[in-house]
Amino acid sequence: MRRYIIGVDVGGTSVKFGKFNLEGVLLEKWNIRTDRSENGENILSNIAESIKLMVDLKEIKGIGIGVPGPVKDNIVVHCVNLNWGRKDLVQELSFLLQDKDIMIRAGNDANVAAAGEMYKGAARGYNTVVMYTLGTGIGGGIVLNGEMMEGVNGAGAELGHTIVDFRHNFPCNCGKKGCLETVASATGIVNLAKEKLIRSKLRSPLRRFETFSAKKVIDYAKEGDYISKQTIEEAMRYLALAMANISLTLDPEIILIGGGVSHAGPYLIDLIEKYFYQMTNPFIKQANIQIASLGNDAGIYGCAYLIQ
Ligand SMILES: [Zn+2]
Repeated sequence: MRRYIIGVDVGGTSVKFGKFNLEGVLLEKWNIRTDRSENGENILSNIAESIKLMVDLKEIKGIGIGVPGPVKDNIVVHCVNLNWGRKDLVQELSFLLQDKDIMIRAGNDANVAAAGEMYKGAARGYNTVVMYTLGTGIGGGIVLNGEMMEGVNGAGAELGHTIVDFRHNFPCNCGKKGCLETVASATGIVNLAKEKLIRSKLRSPLRRFETFSAKKVIDYAKEGDYISKQTIEEAMRYLALAMANISLTLDPEIILIGGGVSHAGPYLIDLIEKYFYQMTNPFIKQANIQIASLGNDAGIYGCAYLIQ
């Protein structure tokens, strides 16, 4: 009997697997290393092998895969992090597993994470969800009426690369400048803090370090350090700007922030809301901005959602 769903969240360094029952209850998790050598050619065969080792294929109803790049109609358009060009995941994985009855679906990892939060996390009960995953970069996920928004080119929810900043010219990994990611991700927070340290002569505990993390800036901000506070305030103002624009476009039921930076919790939400309302009033009086709840598991839950 086909009673399991497998969620596969493919990242640049590791592949996370989750085994779920048909109700979406997570039964087991495991990881393998992402082998990006030889243009990422081994990644799918490693995934197939790992699934075969852990689960009897005859018991699998479907496999959902999240990929860190644009995906359109289950086809990966390209994926720089995995060294993949265009890839038909359904056909290739189906061939590797030699079982045509296993349903295979794929989506962009950040879109899938938003779907995961809607399925079993902080956005449960909602149908229209926007999610920002604030890590080294910023992943954007949009679910509209229960469907992940892929757009025409699979780039439908690249919220981290919407341009919000014309002042600093910090370069983005995508090749552009001024992306949300360059001013509101963990990297962006460090970018802003470094700039403030150079421009001002004010004392700050950050000056003790040659390099520091976004977490350090957030911690010092909470302790009252002026430069750190100004940095987080500015970063959250950019995020609020992006959220205001997406809200006035989609009017979503809930906006989530996830990823490492979101661990700072209500402190960030208060700052975001302060600016958000300045930029959305009079059209949006009550926003629902919340912290995501599934952490690193949002991706595998969303992959399981793809097989519903
Ligand atoms: Zn960018």
